[in-house]
Amino acid sequence: MPMNDLAVVFDDVVKRYDALAAMDGITLTIDSGEIFGFLGPNGAGKTTSIETLAGLRRPTSGRVMVFGFDPVAQRDEVRRLVAIQPQHAALFEHQTVAELLRVWASFYPDPADPEEIIQRLGLGDSRDVRVRKLSGGQRQRLLVGTALISRPRLLVLDEPSTGMDPNARQDLWAAIRAYREAGGTALLSTHSMEEAETLCDRVAILHQGKVVALGEPTELILRHSPEQELHFTVTGGTGLDALQARPEVVELTTHEQNGHTRVRLRTSDPDALFAVLTGDLGARQIQTRDAGLEAVFRRVTGRTFAEIDGEG
Ligand code: ATP
Repeated sequence: MPMNDLAVVFDDVVKRYDALAAMDGITLTIDSGEIFGFLGPNGAGKTTSIETLAGLRRPTSGRVMVFGFDPVAQRDEVRRLVAIQPQHAALFEHQTVAELLRVWASFYPDPADPEEIIQRLGLGDSRDVRVRKLSGGQRQRLLVGTALISRPRLLVLDEPSTGMDPNARQDLWAAIRAYREAGGTALLSTHSMEEAETLCDRVAILHQGKVVALGEPTELILRHSPEQELHFTVTGGTGLDALQARPEVVELTTHEQNGHTRVRLRTSDPDALFAVLTGDLGARQIQTRDAGLEAVFRRVTGRTFAEIDGEG
């Protein structure tokens, strides 16, 4: 079968363990060139979805295709095109970062340059440090490096930023973006709303083995949780009553701050209010905040991530 622009197809995929459906009818496609995220709490089915895509688990029913190949029946073809960085993996503890990546590169006919990977992942300062001495975040980036070294067409990362500090996460995200700019496709699973919102072009929110929301983060936020918050400062406060009476305003609260009034306003239509704020009202320091993917998850499942993770 020819390769095509669809990197991944899940077509009504079910993976059952006795009574439990870890994947319960997952249908979605991932285009070449996307950074796609599986977002969900513990037990949502993220790892199982990744394992079926890698050919490590056979679906109970439904169809998985990777660049037109069946990951179980055509495992060799899929392995040539896909690199998977698992949540945990054994590394050679006594080698340095640079040595390990050079050994890894020697396994592939046309590997990426290990030095380039080291720089991209922000591992320059630890290139001569032995693997066993690395911090959790450095180890995690090295694991991503071992996946990037084969120049895969599809890079699959299972919760890649677990245990990373904010700087390490920025390096990781920059490396994933650079890989995509160079023509790659990335699929990652994540627990982090922020990672899904800032890194992913599209996300599938998983819950109990099902896709409960699918699309671009911004579009999902607008569709499922259309209200936004506007924060701004006014002096005097005349005109706030008229503003509060407008149909677009859901809620308006104020508090006094250094002789000015700081206003917090919830609205389903911030665009309609901007002219009013910047015109007669003379609002300053205007900020908008959306409710984020957390609110989308709450809206579609009636639960929070934290509640579900707490049960696990
Ligand atoms: P986490 O964030 O905790 O890794 P996840 O979204 O990756 O969660 P999965 O690991 O895919 O979730 O698990 C989905 C469900 O399937 C869970 O309820 C899990 O306990 C169950 N499960 C996974 N593997 C097996 C297995 N080999 N046998 C039985 N149940 C399994």
